[in-house]
Amino acid sequence: MKGRNIPDNLCAVAVDLSDMLTGDWRALRPVVDRDKCVKCAVCWLYCPVQCIREHATWFDADLKTCKGCGICARECPQHAILMVEEAEV
Ligand code: SF4
Ligand code: SF4
Repeated sequence: MKGRNIPDNLCAVAVDLSDMLTGDWRALRPVVDRDKCVKCAVCWLYCPVQCIREHATWFDADLKTCKGCGICARECPQHAILMVEEAEV
């Protein structure tokens, strides 16, 4: 905000995001069936942390920031996303 002197350590955009990665504590991870994915981007639209990434013929999650909530799997109209326990992969 103009005219205010906000210390860097209180400014959200100045925080090192590597401290906020969720891969360490996520219990489930989304696995995309690339043959079923039609690149409709519904998963991208609903993902609360915006970690869905586009590839040539499919979308999948950036597992560094995916928290494993499963919303993408519930919303995918093609049922192309399966939530799998981390221990299984
Ligand atoms: S919602 Fe399902 S079909 Fe659509 S892009 Fe995501 S994974 Fe692919
Ligand atoms: S499991 Fe949740 S956080 Fe991970 S990609 Fe799907 S909607 Fe995003």
